[in-house]
Parts: sequence; C-alpha cells; structure tokens
Amino acid sequence: MLKTVVGTAWKCVSAMVFLAAVNTANAAPQYGAWGFDLSAMDLSVKPGDDFNRYASGAWLAQTTIPADKALFTLRMTMTDAIESRLHELMESAAAGAQPGTLDAKAGAFYKAFMNEGRVQALGKDAIAAEIKAITDSADRNALGYLMGKSTTDFYGSIFTITEDADLKNIDRYAIYLGQGGLGLPDRDYYLKPDFASQKAAYQAYVAQMLSLLGWKDPQASAAAVVKFETHIAEVSWTKVEQRDLDKTYNPKSRAGLKSLTPAFAWDAFLKGADLNAVTRVIASEESAFPKIAAIFESTPLSVLKAWQAFTVADNAAFYLSAPFATARFQFRNHTLLGQPAEAVRWKRALRAVGGGDCTGDDRVDCFGNMGFAVGQIYTAHYFSPEAKAKIEALVANVKAAMRARLERLDWMTPATKQEALAKLDTYQIKVGYPDKPRNFAGLEIQPDDLVGNVRRAAVWDWRYYVNRLNNPVDRSDWTMTPQTNDAYNGSLRDIVFPAGILQPPMFDPAADPAINYGAIGAVIGHELSHGFDDEGRKLDAKGELRDWWTPLDASQFTKRAKKLATQYSSYEPVPRAHINGELTLGENIADLGGLNVALEAYHRSLSGQTAQVLDGFTGDQRVFLGWAQAWRGKAREDYIRKQVVSDPHSPRAFRAIGPTRNIDEWYTAFGVKPGDVYYVDPDQRVRIW
Ligand SMILES: [Zn+2]
Repeated sequence: MLKTVVGTAWKCVSAMVFLAAVNTANAAPQYGAWGFDLSAMDLSVKPGDDFNRYASGAWLAQTTIPADKALFTLRMTMTDAIESRLHELMESAAAGAQPGTLDAKAGAFYKAFMNEGRVQALGKDAIAAEIKAITDSADRNALGYLMGKSTTDFYGSIFTITEDADLKNIDRYAIYLGQGGLGLPDRDYYLKPDFASQKAAYQAYVAQMLSLLGWKDPQASAAAVVKFETHIAEVSWTKVEQRDLDKTYNPKSRAGLKSLTPAFAWDAFLKGADLNAVTRVIASEESAFPKIAAIFESTPLSVLKAWQAFTVADNAAFYLSAPFATARFQFRNHTLLGQPAEAVRWKRALRAVGGGDCTGDDRVDCFGNMGFAVGQIYTAHYFSPEAKAKIEALVANVKAAMRARLERLDWMTPATKQEALAKLDTYQIKVGYPDKPRNFAGLEIQPDDLVGNVRRAAVWDWRYYVNRLNNPVDRSDWTMTPQTNDAYNGSLRDIVFPAGILQPPMFDPAADPAINYGAIGAVIGHELSHGFDDEGRKLDAKGELRDWWTPLDASQFTKRAKKLATQYSSYEPVPRAHINGELTLGENIADLGGLNVALEAYHRSLSGQTAQVLDGFTGDQRVFLGWAQAWRGKAREDYIRKQVVSDPHSPRAFRAIGPTRNIDEWYTAFGVKPGDVYYVDPDQRVRIW
C-alpha cells in the first residue's frame, strides 16, 4: 500500500542565479505593484451586479482554458511553480550534492528514477523478491504476514493499518485498522451498473499485470481476483458510513480482535507490520471485519496469491519498466480519471521522490517516499524566515478575530460558547514547515536501485510511526509535506498551511497586507470555522470525540444555515444547472465565516490607524478584492455541471460572490445599493460566525 502512505516545460537554469533571484524577490510582489492584478479587473461591471467579474472580468475574458484541461486556475500555476523549483533542486542535487547530505539522498533517489535504461533492463526482476515470497507462501498465515508488510513494502492488504492520535485518549497514539482490499477507488465501482465499463477495464488490467509477471492463466486468475474483490466490496461500508466518527471508534484488545474475526491470522499480520507488541487496536468498520475475514478464509489460496501478486505489480508499476508503468497509466490515470497523456519523466521522478503535485486528480500519483526530506530542501530555498514571520503575525490576528467574534455571537448558548473559546485556545495553526525536522540520517539511498530505495524509504517511514507509538502524542507533527499546494484540518487540533500553498495569489510576503488577509486570511478563517460548526461540534476542546453543542445551539445554527442554503440554491452558474445549497452548505458557511474573520483580523492589524488608499482602493475594498482574485479561475461548462452535483465546494465565481453580499462592510466599501443584482436587505443577510 505504498501508494497511500500517510493518513493533489521548464528549462534548467543555474541554481545559483535562480536562488539569488528568489531571495531578493521579496521586495516586489508577484502580481501588480501591491500584490493584486489590477489589469484583471473589469471596471465596467458594477461590484454589486457581479463581484467576480468586477474583480477578475478582464482576465476571464482573455483567458483560454488549455485544450487538455477541464479548468484553469491560478492554483494550477502555483503547482507549476513548485514543480519547476523542485525540478531544478533535484537536478542540481543529482548532479553533485555533498555526499551524506539530505540533498545527496534526494538527488540519488531522483537519479535512480531518471535512470530509465536500468529500470527497463530490470523489468519484472525488480519485484522478484515479493513475487517469490507470495508463491512460497504455504498457507493463509503466511499471506496474512505479507499483508502486515503492506506497511513497508508493495504488498496489499484486506485490512489497512494506520497510526493516529486516539480519539478518546487524545494524548496517546493508537493503531487503527480499517477495511481494505479494493483496487478500484470505491465499492460502488464493483456494485453499481454505472461503473460496469470501469470494472471490465479493471479486470483486463489485472490480467495484463499478471501476464507481465508470467503468472499462469492470467485471464482466469484476473476474473477470480475481481470476484474476490467484489465480495469484499459487498460487505464493505460506504463512504458515508465511514465518515461517522462514533461508529468507526471500536477499541479492541488483541483477544477481542481475534474473537471478532477468528478467521484472520492477526498474529502473523501484526508481526508483518512490526507491531508484535501491540495489545490494543481500534477497528474502524467493525461489522465488516468478520465478513471480510470470512471471504479471505473461503477464497482458494491460489486466488489469494494471484490477488497479492497483482497488487504488488500495481503498487510497484510506477517504478517499473515501461510495460508495467504504461499499463498502470492507461488504467489508473487515463481510464479512471481521463488524463490524456502521461506526465514527462522528470515530473514522475519528482512524485517518486516525494514532491510535486499531490492534490486533485493527480492524487493517484502522489507518493511520499522522501516527502519530508524534499520538504526540508524546498523550504530552505523557498520559504524565508521573513515569510514565516509575516504569516505567523497574520495567523495571530485571525485567531484573535475569531475569538472576538465567538465572544460576540448572539445565537450560541453561554455554556457552549465557553467550550468553543476553550477549543479555540487549544488550536494550533501551523505554517510553512514543521518546527521539528524528521531525521533521515541512517536512510540508505542508491542512485542505481530505484525499487530498493522505495522499499528502504517505506521501512524508514513506518519505523518513525512504530517507534513513537508508546510516546505521548507529538502535537508538532505534520501529515502533509511542506511542498504540497494544499492545507488540512488535522486530528491534533491543528490547521496546517504548508509552504506550497503560501504563494501568490494566496499569500505574498511582499503584498499589501489587505490582499493577504482577503486571500489566505479568509482561507485560514474558513478552516478554523470548521472546528466550531456542525462538523467540529463532535470533537471537544481536548480533541476527543464528544458532542459539545446543546439542541438549542443546533437549532439556532440550522435556522441560519437554511437561509444561506436557500441563497446558494438560487445561483445558476451555467444555464439550467443550479448550485445545490445543501450539498455545499458546510463550505459556504466556512467561506462566509472565513471572510468575516479575515476582515476583522485586518482591522486589528491596523492597530487603530486608517489604511492607506492604493490606486484608489481602500483597505476594506482590497480585502474583498484579494478574496475574489484568490478564487480566480475558469472552468468548462461540463466541469461546472459535474461540480454542482458532486463537489461540496461552490463554483469559483460564487465563492467570490456568495459571502460578500452577506457582509455589511462590503456594501459600505463598494456603495452597493438596492437594485444591484446581488443586493440583500440588511435583515436578510446571513450572519453565522
Ligand atoms: Zn472547508
């Protein structure tokens, strides 16, 4: 399960020249004179008629979506920038870094991937050790052991293993076991007629991989493998069931686990995972466990072996010779995701080492082999101490503004409000990179042994988790690498913004602060507000699983939320396709809360001074404009039609428009009046956070 470890045309220039340019680039913002793209605006549009077009209309009119893309956003240009920088860093590390340094290790890994000749020559021999271990397995016990080794090798497992803070004893770690075994993205792919063609393509892919391995009777074996997975899919929980934190918290002693699931070789499995000493686990999809184990027991050994052999080939294919890698691309990226062409080799090499884009559709190619090592190298060059200090000051103001707004809230009952304030005080907002770097000192990386590097890095990574299992939870830890263009809300009561997302237009240390508050400030406020809403109500100030809302809080919240849902359901981003106000409700509430919090945080940052006017725009205007341009993007109609039925986030235009019209200061800032398209009477504006 290496592909999911941890729970989205560039020319080389000399490293020296490029880095020097970046280090002095702090003086000038990336967009415009003060971090905002004035040329993107369409001043012929009244702000109250279409705030998105007012802020970004000229850009929208001029921008063409690339032919191979469904949408184009500035977020994508941020990803391109990260990849270009990593490309250059890895090329230079591979060319000659000081031996023994982190650069030398990452460079050697990159070099091993780029050594295509060696990869081709090895072919399937690169995974001969795993295939031999499978064919040598005498019984289910031996196969259970290999499943445990899914933590440190290419093997698959019918039960997943992760380590996380214990949701009911938050200062300690726990081992979480979950349902696994499926090679398709979800159980629906096996069970719903809509996915019949993908399922058939999957079976062909299994047969192709088995035949590349020289497995006997690949066609019949593939049919049996898919049948085995279909049985598991039938008894697996749905994604919705899996999201229920109460139902997935089922602590078990080792004896309890065995009596729940006598048909599975748990001792061998835990030994394979280097967890021999573990006495307690949490079984997530509890009722599925005995059923999955029973399928394991009743499936012929030969089918289990074929399944494991296929899984190893599938998990390793990204690092193998062209027949394997191409087959994997054709199925995983092209058939399942519609990606037209394989990424160039250096981009794939970046992903292999642990860098590059791990967000969105590309998550299928997201690997973490040396991700935190690459993060240390990246941030040393591209996230200055000045940038870290600026974003930390912004974060402090956002948190203080959130506190002030919670204190003033008129709908939350006093006792619940006290809980909310206590929870806010324990929240950590982490920016840039982890304060404690991970240690890679003993990890051996060789420039001519790609698959060996992957194995050794996985062992290294898993040992990090196993070694700390009995220590108190380390709240400074990160689960996303610093070079990732994304953010997350974690189980450590933390909100994490890696250096990768702290780039223009989200954040620019050289920009006017109002722009940063409107962009990244509102996004931080958005994430923070999730900790206090109908999602966050389930985890208390200690981070433990306990509903801290009263029924009265819930009904007050719901009343306000309904008004916002009605507003969003009235929006029609493309003809005859409306936003689903219920589906997007949680995210829209967070956008509205986030922008309110950011505006107040900006006011705090002024310390009583009046903001200067820049190019005719006041401070408040710039906060709203910064927000709108942070969401600048253009999508094809089909993409939006799919988005409104499946994505809990509203289309970008309405992320710009939706929150602003519920904020009084927006009306004052832009002189929005009755009669303007998006005018809302003051008593109808939605106020939640
Ligand atoms: Zn959100």
